[in-house]
Amino acid sequence: METKLIKIDNVKGQRDALHAAGELIRSGEVVAFPTETVYGLGANGLDADACAKIYQAKGRPSDNPLILHVANRSMIDQVAAAIPDKAEKLLAAFCPGPITLILPRRSLVPDRITGGLSTVGVRMPEHDVARALIAAAGVPIAAPSANISGRPSPTTAEAVLTDMDGKIPLILDGGSCDFGVESTIVDAVGDKAVILRPGAITKEMLEEVLGAGNVIIDPALVGKDSVPRAPGMKYTHYAPKAPLTLIEGMPTRMVRAFRQEISRLQAAGHTVGVMASHEVLQELADIVPRELMADYGHQGKLPAIAANIYEALRSFDDKEADVLLGEGTTAAGLGLAIMNRLHKASGFRSIQA
Ligand code: AMP
Ligand code: MG
Repeated sequence: METKLIKIDNVKGQRDALHAAGELIRSGEVVAFPTETVYGLGANGLDADACAKIYQAKGRPSDNPLILHVANRSMIDQVAAAIPDKAEKLLAAFCPGPITLILPRRSLVPDRITGGLSTVGVRMPEHDVARALIAAAGVPIAAPSANISGRPSPTTAEAVLTDMDGKIPLILDGGSCDFGVESTIVDAVGDKAVILRPGAITKEMLEEVLGAGNVIIDPALVGKDSVPRAPGMKYTHYAPKAPLTLIEGMPTRMVRAFRQEISRLQAAGHTVGVMASHEVLQELADIVPRELMADYGHQGKLPAIAANIYEALRSFDDKEADVLLGEGTTAAGLGLAIMNRLHKASGFRSIQA
């Protein structure tokens, strides 16, 4: 099938294009669209056959549930059987925004999208194109990230096209995504709110609303040994084509650790690619050619790094490096989300600086 790419830079002025996209969703087709986190691959969330096409286009394992994207509160009530008190508070504080709430599901939500779970993940995006598309479709839109399963998530329409060309009829191009990492997933059904996937809404921000001590991180996110409660978190993810190893530790020790590891790998005959901060790359200019570098932003500037990491990882797809080294960040605040993605992208291979 031919994949059309339509630029949407004026939601009000492009009602016809958005109406046609909503019509495609209603008729059971798959449409890629921008959100403030990453690009999503959307289908009618109440239509199991339409959602099956998402799994097929991505090559996604069938037990990995999809998140339902809604435009307003009444759409949440349509798919969730109840909204517990803590979830209610998070809704008021952060929605619309980059957070997904795990809620008890209603039976009209197909098993196909929940992986057979008794809960459903619900997110209300803030991006105006996402909101306009959901409104035009008139149904909750089930949408995972618009990448081939296991690859880095797309944060531009071009990255979506790279993975989805010929597999879906339409991509809405809304430019680059603001946050660049997927939504924070919070299970607020139980006694304590549990972060199942870290994102731009940080633990600290959740604690401010729910009280310190009422927010915990799914232990599986910290170690790699226990089974995560968000089924999708157990799969390899975000991986570039060449194997990635992280260098973690104090910023002041980074350059030395990079130089040592690069020399060792080059001596062994490898072509080394490096994804790191501007500051670290500057110090490596004499041993790594410019075209084998990906600059993810300034050291410590976490929002910019989050927005850049997936494009930085994808940039190596066209470079000839056969091994990659990446610079770790702090794991505090937004750093928890960044390091979660980098650890998965590297298959937990890391070196302490
Ligand atoms: P993606 O759509 O690629 O951002 O992945 C969606 C993530 O949400 C996956 O890690 C899923 O496992 C997780 N998820 C979706 N629904 C649920 C649910 N009901 N309970 C727990 N995790 C969920
Ligand atoms: Mg994904």
